[in-house]
Amino acid sequence: MARRSSARVWVNLGGATLRERARYHLARWAPLLAVALLTYLAFTPLIGIGAPVPAVGQISKQSVVAPFAYEVRKSPEEIAREGESRALTAQPVYRFSPTAYDSSLAAARGFFADLAKAAETGGPDSVAQAVAARVRLGPEETRFLTDSTNRRQIQELSTHFLAEALSRGVADAGAIRGEVSPTIALRRGETERIIPRDSILTFADLMEQAETAQRQVASLTQVTNESKKTIDARLTDIAAREANLQQELGQLEVNREELASAVDEGTRSRYQRLFKQKGQNVVVGIQHGVCGGCHMQLSRSTVVTCQAEQEIVTCTNCGRILYYTRDMDLAVAE
Ligand SMILES: [Zn+2]
Repeated sequence: MARRSSARVWVNLGGATLRERARYHLARWAPLLAVALLTYLAFTPLIGIGAPVPAVGQISKQSVVAPFAYEVRKSPEEIAREGESRALTAQPVYRFSPTAYDSSLAAARGFFADLAKAAETGGPDSVAQAVAARVRLGPEETRFLTDSTNRRQIQELSTHFLAEALSRGVADAGAIRGEVSPTIALRRGETERIIPRDSILTFADLMEQAETAQRQVASLTQVTNESKKTIDARLTDIAAREANLQQELGQLEVNREELASAVDEGTRSRYQRLFKQKGQNVVVGIQHGVCGGCHMQLSRSTVVTCQAEQEIVTCTNCGRILYYTRDMDLAVAE
């Protein structure tokens, strides 16, 4: 019974004969084959797959997808290390905070404003109190700040220093020292640029720079003070010499008046005329037979007359009054 029943199922699935069964199955599989053919035509296979494999060294005319599987001869540690180094090529980004820059400068300006106000209302003691309220300074440094000129100079110096140092950016020491990348990206507003990691200061670096600057200021102040002392001494010296010279000049003017009064009227007016024309160089010596004023050769008779010292002799070229001394020729000859 069971046998007959299973035979009926078999018959129902195809047909009685082999031919009928083959037709029946062909009709069922045909659509599947049609879909496969359509898919093959619609989606062409990737270039390279099925194409001839190029020989070693041969230049392919088109992109080839190499369908090879190959073994990576690297340890997991090596692969991990490579991954890490690839990750390091991404720049760490530091952002410049203008707020921190502004508030630091504002704090410095506020400090000096407080000192100025204290100086106006209560004098040096109030300044010292105002200093002590904000910073820790020694007695000498505090006294230095009670002077308004010193205060202004220190204010200019320190705000300039702060502005310059902070504008380059200051980072937390822990963050910057822990940085493995030798360069970092510094983002300032919308712009970003790559800078060496070492160019970013830490607060410790900033303090060190400030201390160096302070030492430089101290040594420069010392040099300045010493130079000032030398210059003051020189000025005193010059003032004393000036006083002496003034005294001598007074004496010479008195002598000149006395001597001038001894010269006759005609000669004196001739001198005055020449003085107006030629300036101070009116009475000139004869040097090797040449006029000391215009350097023209003088006639022998002029030189001889002058040597005789009996009358006023003038240069025939420039009109200056001539005089002759033996010393003069000797001095030139030497
Ligand atoms: Zn002359």
